Amino acid sequence: MKFRNMVTVLDVDDILGGGKKAVARALNLLEEKGSSCYERNKALIDRLSRKARPERYVVGITGPPGVGKSTLVSRLVREYRSRGKTVGVIAVDPSSKRSGGALLGDRARISHDPDDEGIFIRSMATGSHMGGLAWRTRHCLTVLEAVYDVIVLETVGVGQSETEIDQVADSVAYIVQPGSGDILQFMKAGIMEIPHVIVVNKADQKVLAARAQSDLMVAKAYSQSVLDGWELKVVMTSALEGWGQKELVDIIEDHRGFLTERGILEERRRQKRIGWVRMLFKERFGDFGLEVLGGEGNVDSLIARSDILNPLESVEMLVEKVLRSKDLNHE
Ligand code: GDP
Repeated sequence: MKFRNMVTVLDVDDILGGGKKAVARALNLLEEKGSSCYERNKALIDRLSRKARPERYVVGITGPPGVGKSTLVSRLVREYRSRGKTVGVIAVDPSSKRSGGALLGDRARISHDPDDEGIFIRSMATGSHMGGLAWRTRHCLTVLEAVYDVIVLETVGVGQSETEIDQVADSVAYIVQPGSGDILQFMKAGIMEIPHVIVVNKADQKVLAARAQSDLMVAKAYSQSVLDGWELKVVMTSALEGWGQKELVDIIEDHRGFLTERGILEERRRQKRIGWVRMLFKERFGDFGLEVLGGEGNVDSLIARSDILNPLESVEMLVEKVLRSKDLNHE
């Protein structure tokens, strides 16, 4: 036990040094499964959560396939680097989209300078387990949040992933392309409530892009109330030609300022951590678990009173309670 803790301490120090190899190794450790890894991973997550950099910021990039998300992320990485920020990227790929798995896919997709120690890029294949993915994304984020200034999480916007991205990102950008009908879909699906900025990429297709922008301006009215008073922004970019990314980063920075000044940022992060623990618990016990513990509201207040920087410990606390109440029921 003692030895195991020592190993963890060394790993955490390495990781915080920011070496790419150490970060990659930490992510690999966290991907390992089995009971022998569980205690080590729990300790690693606990320590890393406490080391999350106060100045970090998590940006979610989502939208339908083919709109230019990866190309845009490459531009964003460069823009942030030119502002002196280090960047960690998590790119979530539906594994069916390309053969060879995520590892081969992403190197080609997000172009960057491989020798720059201030950039780290990790791809994750979704496979068929959406729940499992949310788990792994959170693990991965915990590592990157301790090391990088900006963390970009790129996911394909299909169905539930938009809401999932909202569970982890501080600012969310939804990417559309002109003339594709995405905007209509987007309004119908009620996705309008999630992003803080809508990006009309491929705006080099001028006529279509202008129309897309005016459609979005009309649609903006839908979003007002749910974003804590933040007014949804629309920005035009061409990731191909390399313009608009500066304006996009400026908007994200404005949003960050908006959240920080109003004290919303920290509270939202806290709520998201509570949501994370609830999700982990629900994965194991489903709605039944929530019911046994008196419903979602009760479960959330139990979590809020626990040490939420140690999410796996919080889940164990809930599990313990479920098991105890079951025993009582059988007496
Ligand atoms: P993703 O599936 O959303 O990640 O999209 P990709 O970044 O892989 O881009 C899909 C295609 O759109 C590629 O052929 C890109 O070269 C192209 N593309 C990306 N951004 C732009 C842009 O701003 N303008 C134009 N015309 N094409 C773009």
